[in-house]
Amino acid sequence: MKCEIIAVGTELLLGCILNTNAQYLSEKMAELGIDVHFQTVVGDNLERVKGALKAGLQRADIIITSGGLGPTDDDLTKEAVSEALGLKLLPHEPSLTKLKEFFKKINRPMDECNLKQGYLPEDCIILNNNNGTAPGVMLDKDNKIIVLLPGPPKELIPMFEDSVYEYLRKKSNSLLKSRTLRIVGIGESNIQGILKDVFDSQTNPTIAPYAKSGEVHLRITAKSSSLEEADRLIEGLEKTVRERLEGNIYGTDYETLEGVVNKLLTEGGLTISCAESCTGGLLSQRLTSVPGASKCFMNSIITYSNESKEEFLGVKHSTLEKHGAVSEETALEMAEGIRRVSGTDVGISITGIAGPDGGTEEKPVGLVYIGISCMGATEVHKCLFTGGRDKIRYNTSTKALDIIRRILLKKM
Ligand code: ATP
Ligand code: MG
Repeated sequence: MKCEIIAVGTELLLGCILNTNAQYLSEKMAELGIDVHFQTVVGDNLERVKGALKAGLQRADIIITSGGLGPTDDDLTKEAVSEALGLKLLPHEPSLTKLKEFFKKINRPMDECNLKQGYLPEDCIILNNNNGTAPGVMLDKDNKIIVLLPGPPKELIPMFEDSVYEYLRKKSNSLLKSRTLRIVGIGESNIQGILKDVFDSQTNPTIAPYAKSGEVHLRITAKSSSLEEADRLIEGLEKTVRERLEGNIYGTDYETLEGVVNKLLTEGGLTISCAESCTGGLLSQRLTSVPGASKCFMNSIITYSNESKEEFLGVKHSTLEKHGAVSEETALEMAEGIRRVSGTDVGISITGIAGPDGGTEEKPVGLVYIGISCMGATEVHKCLFTGGRDKIRYNTSTKALDIIRRILLKKM
């Protein structure tokens, strides 16, 4: 089945409001396995709304409109639909009564134009509006379904969920189900190469990569008549992807990297502390953003200056003099230092140059050392990140989380 979404409103065309209704409805159609080939935006003009409807009816089975159900002269979606389909607008007594009661309750005189909202196309299904005065309208005839919804999202969304979703679900003989595999430590183009044959031969399920900051998400989507069948299709493809990308997949759907690290630490009964320099606490912020982090996260020190690295972490003065703050040696002493002073199982250190200034030929902007001291061993990872200050800092925190994750998986 094909659906077309028509958002009515001059405000949309003028750029005064964002068409979030179309986004919401398209998302729901995807969930229902109903294809949306066109979204239209049309102003509050009777002839043009009629034109958009007629064009939509040529190419779709379902038309959903948003907006233009209000009482004023520029609200004319119902009128346009009735004229386009040759239907009469008839007074609907329960809706008229509800309108009159509404105005009585708010103690305001009802303007004649408000009565317009109580006139509905003949033979329509009326969609209750519990959040406003305009009822919605659904017409189901001659193998076409036309749904008219009010413009305000706080009216449109509940109306769609209460009265339309289930109706369309029964009509649609297929549904879409997606699973997102979340990947870190490997770039999008690398993934394209590794999975080239899978991307080239995809039909059902489909697979699509999305580059996110510091990670890549792979969305696998299956179309089927049942949830069980969709799951089976997804699992088949997921198995192949997992075999190829192995440890780079850290989670699925809504899992986050910090969430996964917290889970590994908590499950292993391990504690962690951080000593951050160029990230200024970003790693600690991400680790503590996870509810329940207090089970594993003990403390963090932002040791920005050389003096603080010596004073709080016990980094040797000679190490800083000889190798500098941004060095493998300093990162190592910072990681061991924070672990020692905090008494945790894991100590993480970060020292680097986030830029935009401060880089040299030998130590360019983006050079970062990440140390991890864990269960009797300490290792330091030298990384070179690109981009601006924010990107370098964020990608550093991602890399640090991934280093912790991989070490914990290996040790447990
Ligand atoms: P009302 O009874 O409030 O007039 P209506 O059904 O006639 O409702 P419109 O007049 O078209 O709807 O729009 C009313 C308000 O709803 C807009 O001012 C805007 O805030 C919101 N709205 C309308 N269309 C959209 C849309 N496509 N996406 C998001 N919000 C919208
Ligand atoms: Mg209106």
